[in-house]
Amino acid sequence: MTQVTGQMIIAGTPVSGAGNQIRAIDPSTGAELEPPFAHGDASHVERACAAAAEAFGPYRRLPIAERAAFLERIADNIEKVGDELVERAHAESGLPVARLTGERGRTTGQLRMFATLLRNGDHDIPRIDPALPDRTPPRVDIRQRHVPLGPVAVFGASNFPLAFSVAGGDTASALAAGCPVVVKGHDAHPGTAELVGRAIADAVADLGLPAGTFSLLFGRGPDLGTRLVTDPRVQAVGFTGSRAGGLALVAAAQSRPQPIPVYAEMSSSNPVFLLPGALAERGGEIATGFVGSLTLGSGQFCTNPGVVIAVDGPELRSFLDTAADAVAKREAGVMLTPGIARAYAEGVTRLAEHAKVEVLAQGPETDLPVAGRPALVVTDAAEFLGDEALQQEVFGSCSVVVRCRDAAQVREVAESLEGQLTVTVHAADSDHAQAAELLDVLELKAGRILFDGWPTGVEVGHAMVHGGPFPSTSDSRTTSVGTLAIERFQRPVAYQDVPAALLPDSLADGNPAGLLRRVDGEPGRH
Ligand code: NAP
Repeated sequence: MTQVTGQMIIAGTPVSGAGNQIRAIDPSTGAELEPPFAHGDASHVERACAAAAEAFGPYRRLPIAERAAFLERIADNIEKVGDELVERAHAESGLPVARLTGERGRTTGQLRMFATLLRNGDHDIPRIDPALPDRTPPRVDIRQRHVPLGPVAVFGASNFPLAFSVAGGDTASALAAGCPVVVKGHDAHPGTAELVGRAIADAVADLGLPAGTFSLLFGRGPDLGTRLVTDPRVQAVGFTGSRAGGLALVAAAQSRPQPIPVYAEMSSSNPVFLLPGALAERGGEIATGFVGSLTLGSGQFCTNPGVVIAVDGPELRSFLDTAADAVAKREAGVMLTPGIARAYAEGVTRLAEHAKVEVLAQGPETDLPVAGRPALVVTDAAEFLGDEALQQEVFGSCSVVVRCRDAAQVREVAESLEGQLTVTVHAADSDHAQAAELLDVLELKAGRILFDGWPTGVEVGHAMVHGGPFPSTSDSRTTSVGTLAIERFQRPVAYQDVPAALLPDSLADGNPAGLLRRVDGEPGRH
């Protein structure tokens, strides 16, 4: 059994912080958990970043198969921690054991997925434009591949203590790209973070990799986190959390003498469009599915459906009756932290006190110390269009229904939306003409558009996009889930007329590594 010690990990060495002491809180009881964790300071950031910079050279030059084996070893080590990991995550987050067990599988699955990507050589598709000496003017030989950026800072998210935290998608994709990682663990689940951090550090040691390949720090965001982002050795940042936190890190990264990219996943209200044919055909079924998605995990998903848009009429009213009834009966759910529960309650109150918003239903009162009652409110499109505050994410099980006059106003609402991680459309066959028009608008608004389902539940794969235009993320050109996430931590380099003897294998004549390459524009294993 691995004991949680309350220590950080710097380049394989357990280190006690010297700053503020924090303890995780069990949100289902409000009780503080042992042991205390002492926050790190500037000296810890210095040590972790110096070690990461030292590790970068040898780590990036490892044969790809060894990098893949490292990711697989991390997954194995996480599994070896056993039930203690899920139990600790449950105690620190209040999330159900079954959900956390699934999340652990997702975490190890995505590490292994990146390992497979590396073994197949698909993390980089080299491009080769051979020399054309007889062309006028002659063309030089140009070969392109990607190289890792350098040490990456990762901010663990509170709402996925495993899959978006210490060994989550940001860490997995950065390590797969060849970048050492320094994680700032989230204070909401420090014990879980330590257990996973130890699994990674053990994998580093097991395989004899440079110790600075991984470090885990704890500390306050505005000082330790900002220091990490502004350390000159850090070359990119991965973050999931609030809009304010993400924007603060973007600003810090941009204010450096050398600005660096910050891939921040921030806020999204994940609008759901209910088209008339779908409402008429299966409004009751959609209402039940909607409340299930809204209240899943106490609504603490970045893809929680926080806005519903439909034309007013008897079908919408019937949908609202069913949904309101289900919300009124749904018990309050435990939330991750007292701060998140407070922010949720304030968000619901802000909506409830809005002169043009009507509260349709709220879940029953609760005695739980850290919890959120689900809430469903309704407003008219004219108000929604005129008040940006109504679009803002309320992180938890709260959704705003927007009643529209007609299809033209539905389109107007779609055009007014901020950038989103997801938009959902429920459409019957008879709705396809309107759906096609909407799609044209929505593909400019969101990273993922889904039909006849619910946005909670993000498949980890090759085609997934978990990203989107601002403010859902700080960089809409990529994703934080799925294999494409690796591209955030690499950059292309063109090798012009480099002697054959000096070319890396992936660019060599005859394709010795058997990679998929684009030669003179043509893709193939040549
Ligand atoms: P958060 O406040 O954004 O914190 C996330 C991480 O960023 C923490 O490590 C935090 O450090 C750090 N941070 C925050 N503000 C910072 C700043 N100004 N400068 C440097 N670092 C900073 O997110 P949270 O603690 O998870 O939850 C707070 C709210 O975020 C929620 O109520 C919800 O609205 C939103 N949230 C959204 C998502 C999503 O997926 N969309 C997920 C989780 C949370 P400290 O802990 O020291 O502050």
